[in-house]
Amino acid sequence: MTYKYLERLKDDIYNCLHCRLCTFTWKWPTKKGWPPGAFEPSCPAGEKFKFETFFAGGKSWLARAVLEGEVDIKDPEIVDILFACPTCANCEQQCTLEEPKVGYRHRIVAIIEALRAEYVKAGMELPGRQKAFGVHTGKEHNPYMEKHADRLNWLPSDIKLPEKAEIVYFVGCTSSYRQKQLALATVEVFKKLGVDFTILKDEWCCGSPLLRTGQWETEWVSVSKIAQHNVNEVKKAGAEKIVTTCAGCYRTWKIDYLGDVYGDMLGAKHDFEVLHTTELLEQLIKDGKLEFKKEINMKVTYHDPCHLGRHSGVYDAPRNVLTAIPGIELVEMPRSREVSWCCGSGGGVKSGYPQWAVEIAYERVKEAEALGVDAIVSACPFCYRNIGDAIKAYGSNLKMYDIIELVNQALG
Ligand code: SF4
Ligand code: SF4
Repeated sequence: MTYKYLERLKDDIYNCLHCRLCTFTWKWPTKKGWPPGAFEPSCPAGEKFKFETFFAGGKSWLARAVLEGEVDIKDPEIVDILFACPTCANCEQQCTLEEPKVGYRHRIVAIIEALRAEYVKAGMELPGRQKAFGVHTGKEHNPYMEKHADRLNWLPSDIKLPEKAEIVYFVGCTSSYRQKQLALATVEVFKKLGVDFTILKDEWCCGSPLLRTGQWETEWVSVSKIAQHNVNEVKKAGAEKIVTTCAGCYRTWKIDYLGDVYGDMLGAKHDFEVLHTTELLEQLIKDGKLEFKKEINMKVTYHDPCHLGRHSGVYDAPRNVLTAIPGIELVEMPRSREVSWCCGSGGGVKSGYPQWAVEIAYERVKEAEALGVDAIVSACPFCYRNIGDAIKAYGSNLKMYDIIELVNQALG
């Protein structure tokens, strides 16, 4: 059997020393007040399933065993090892193999996603609602099986957008169909600030749910077709920049469409500048083009979305925007920035293992509660939904916000 997706990551797979340093948080950012040398859980999958193969080192060795024919990729017993992982990349952060040693950050998430792609290619069944992503995205261009024609139903009819603009606001499926209040808040903020933007008339899912769950080439649609379509639509809008409120769309546009892991396979390289909403807002604040009119008196903590933080390196922009809002007091959780505990929603876990996803988020809720804050703030509709679900499920008094909502309130 040939494993074309695993073969191209062979060097990464064989680089793993099996030292197990990725199984806990030990590389704390050096900041006063953070626990130097303390060992805290880092891996939601390993902590839940308590078995070596669920940690990153175990998964690397599983990939090696598949390549060497010791484990059959069609073994249904490996399904949870492959898919019960939110691909949070904390293992990459903690891995002993760092850039000076291997020339790049150890590509553990890429290995996990390649294992998933081999499993799917072998015709095996995905867990829970993940299996529906392919057919849904092929038919209606979103993984929720909502009608494509309804994608812009959240947009008030009195808001008119131009055909062409400098910026395309790429809404994403989750804000278009589920967390619609975040899409509306974004458009209201852009209108208040006079941003020259438009929204694609024929926006398709960015492809992230399919990439993350190994469904790269399904019988209904391929991620390369999706990526090429979206890039062409942005070209038609004459835009130079793409702005997204979704951390998942951000990673897909900025890293997957362009990067060395998926870029060639997708054939959708582009030269648009990709910004998260918080990066655009941070720039407008710096340029003196954004002035808040209202105070929001609240003590909050910020949860780093994995796709924005560890995957893309955006840590400061959201914090700078938050702290620019008058009245906001920001306190950090012990595990923040590079060592943040995942919200549990990514990598298909919310669809494949919904109850466990909420358990992972509850860990984060407890961490925030211990700080005595009023609210958790994040910058991604997935974190918003899943941490919000945990707050409800466990009866916490915390509030959940996305930064864009607070910015909209503070603009008046
Ligand atoms: S991506 Fe996150 S959950 Fe998955 S193995 Fe790495 S640390 Fe564990
Ligand atoms: S993934 Fe990195 S930290 Fe984990 S066992 Fe392998 S080499 Fe060690």
